[in-house]
Amino acid sequence: MRTIRAFAEGLSLDATHCTLDGPEAHHLLHVLRVKVGDGLQLFNGMGDEFEVLVERLSKKSIDCEVQTARTVSREASREIVVVSAVPKSDRQQALIEKLVELGARTWVAASFRHSALAPDAKSLERWRRYVIEASKQCRRNRLMGIELWSGACDFQALIQQLRSGDVGGFSSPSVAAGCTAWVLDPSGVAAGSSWFDPTRAGVVAVGPEGGFAESELNQARESGWEVVGWGDRILRLETAAWAATASLLGPSP
Ligand code: SAH
Repeated sequence: MRTIRAFAEGLSLDATHCTLDGPEAHHLLHVLRVKVGDGLQLFNGMGDEFEVLVERLSKKSIDCEVQTARTVSREASREIVVVSAVPKSDRQQALIEKLVELGARTWVAASFRHSALAPDAKSLERWRRYVIEASKQCRRNRLMGIELWSGACDFQALIQQLRSGDVGGFSSPSVAAGCTAWVLDPSGVAAGSSWFDPTRAGVVAVGPEGGFAESELNQARESGWEVVGWGDRILRLETAAWAATASLLGPSP
């Protein structure tokens, strides 16, 4: 039988009991119809996983007894940050869901010259729910980060902030400082060797359906971004983001 996973924000490794409420409890109670005595797997989004037994049910909450607690990483070993324009609302869930499954560390929602939608803090809670749902399914225990780059995207400022660790959520200052930066654009050339080097963290920028402006590409090149092309077919921005992430992360050993 498939393991039922639920998100337990803030649950610590030394907890012996916990209570689930809010949307997590609602789904378990009214959709999956869990019963007293059922086993669940919880994760706290910080890398820890818990096997628990359902002890008590109420209309809106579930009390559980923790049986085992451990740190389990299912993160990709290469840290990849995806910066992209925000797709239309009906495609946002798919973009986020697949980035979580593929193993992107952080998605930075940005706005470019030809963007139709600007990243909006009001969407954050909904986007975070997509991350949680995808993490249940793919068994990631750490939540993919979501950050907003407000205002027009300036490639020079962006790479500076990524390398200094202010943006992107890289695991350490040295990983952030050593990251390689690529911009995907149909005018670009085939990726160089750093793309295929699993020891280098990376950031890949994907533009809006209207594409990047020439001035944006020039600024990116001048600030050290490599402009990479993906062949003659024009991909939707989500497809470009998924293809790049899958290619950069590869099949892990
Ligand atoms: N109309 C735009 C394409 C926009 S597609 C144009 O002709 O340039 C949305 C984004 O997906 C692009 O900004 C780019 O980042 C990425 N993309 C789509 N197809 C691509 C390709 N063949 N090579 C590289 N990047 C691509």
